[in-house]
Amino acid sequence: MLTDTMLPEGVRALRDEVRAFAASVPHQLLLDMDADRVRFPREFLQEAGRRHLLGLRFDPTWGGRGLPWTAEMVALEELGVLGTALPCLWSLVSIVGEAIAAFGNDEQKRRVLAPMLRGELAAAEALTEPRGGSDFFAATTTARREGDTFYLSGQKRFVVGAEGADVILVYGRVEGIADPKRAMTAFLLERGEGVEVHHVYGLMGTRGGGTGRLVFKNAPVGLANVLGGEAGIGRGTEVFHRMMIPERLTSAGGAVGMGRAAFEIAARYADRRHAFGDKIRRFEGVSFKVAESLTLLDASRALNHGAARAVDVGEEAGTVRRLVSEAKKFATESAWTVVNHAMQILGGIGYTDIYPVERLLRDTRLITIWTGTNEIMDLVIQHEFYRHFLAEKSTARDVEADAAGAALPDEKVYNEPE
Ligand SMILES: Cc1cc2nc3c(=O)[nH]c(=O)nc-3n(C[C@H](O)[C@H](O)[C@H](O)COP(=O)(O)OP(=O)(O)OC[C@H]3O[C@@H](n4cnc5c(N)ncnc54)[C@H](O)[C@@H]3O)c2cc1C
Repeated sequence: MLTDTMLPEGVRALRDEVRAFAASVPHQLLLDMDADRVRFPREFLQEAGRRHLLGLRFDPTWGGRGLPWTAEMVALEELGVLGTALPCLWSLVSIVGEAIAAFGNDEQKRRVLAPMLRGELAAAEALTEPRGGSDFFAATTTARREGDTFYLSGQKRFVVGAEGADVILVYGRVEGIADPKRAMTAFLLERGEGVEVHHVYGLMGTRGGGTGRLVFKNAPVGLANVLGGEAGIGRGTEVFHRMMIPERLTSAGGAVGMGRAAFEIAARYADRRHAFGDKIRRFEGVSFKVAESLTLLDASRALNHGAARAVDVGEEAGTVRRLVSEAKKFATESAWTVVNHAMQILGGIGYTDIYPVERLLRDTRLITIWTGTNEIMDLVIQHEFYRHFLAEKSTARDVEADAAGAALPDEKVYNEPE
């Protein structure tokens, strides 16, 4: 459905490669994950690694392909047809990998990033705490330093991959540093002493990806596993801001694939299913949903591409934050609408497990919540907009003056404080 004119140059072969990988994933694996029979599908990551499809953006020195974000977004759409859990595990390489590529030292890149890209080492990211995920800087996980060892204490919840990951990027506050933003530090925690993993029961969807609660009880982490080593202490806030780009772009990219998967099932159904003596797609109530879905998916692709391009060309950080947040919000809300339309077009059978639309609906509900809720996206979007808008002197036409009463200042009342 994605027309080749909308593809960035030179990524058709990549698109086909990722499409073939997505097609190769066994149907039974998805069913077993959804039924919680598989709790962590390590073989998915291993196969992606064998195909050289993990961490596409990273430097070939560490095993990446050195591709731009615009290419990764195309790959994400292809993987998104698998739902949330598998693409999330794939994306964690991109997310945790970003932190290591940008803030890690060479020894950490060799020891952690390179095997991640080969699919030999699984990573997770632990940011959200039971007390709240949106207010990241209020995190209470602490790290007590004794010589070259830090002891982590606290809890994180909803961590995808917690049940199977070999290394978990954990944010904690180093004790003894008063300023909370300067105390925040990122640790590459290896599973072991002092780390308990609890299975998260009763997820509505996104099952089988190893989502768990992590409890740290004086879990030791050596200085070698502080992201960036000694120089990395207190850089957690920078790491967080940097990681929000892959967090949110991967959500935005995958969303298009999820919407597309449900849409195509519904579009085919509408062409075959008859009612009142005609194909149901001939009824406006159905065909307009098809039209709206297509438009939302194409608009999502276009905004995703624009946000990805802004990152690739090194656009100003605030503008990148705004565009990435817009893409995450728009693509995930569009996917939610598209999957709902698909279920409506299928009628009652859409609400059963005869078609995978009900699973996609359960999965899609999450993407407006994770990697920063869409309310948090709204906060970022308007904040970054005003920062620029009010600071810039516009060179555009003064449209406000195009009104008959524009020159009556007494009518322009703003009640501004003196
Ligand atoms: C299946 C699953 C997988 C996940 N994977 C991971 C993972 O791998 N790693 C990880 O760290 N986290 C993960 N998360 C956590 C997820 O990112 C958080 O749930 C999300 O960021 C929201 O945090 P919260 O649940 O604590 O809600 P809260 O932060 O408590 O927010 C509750 C509500 O208040 C709203 N709200 C809060 N502050 C504001 C504000 N200032 N303005 C307007 N509205 C506001 C929110 O939008 C939301 O609607 C996952 C969650 C789930 C369910």
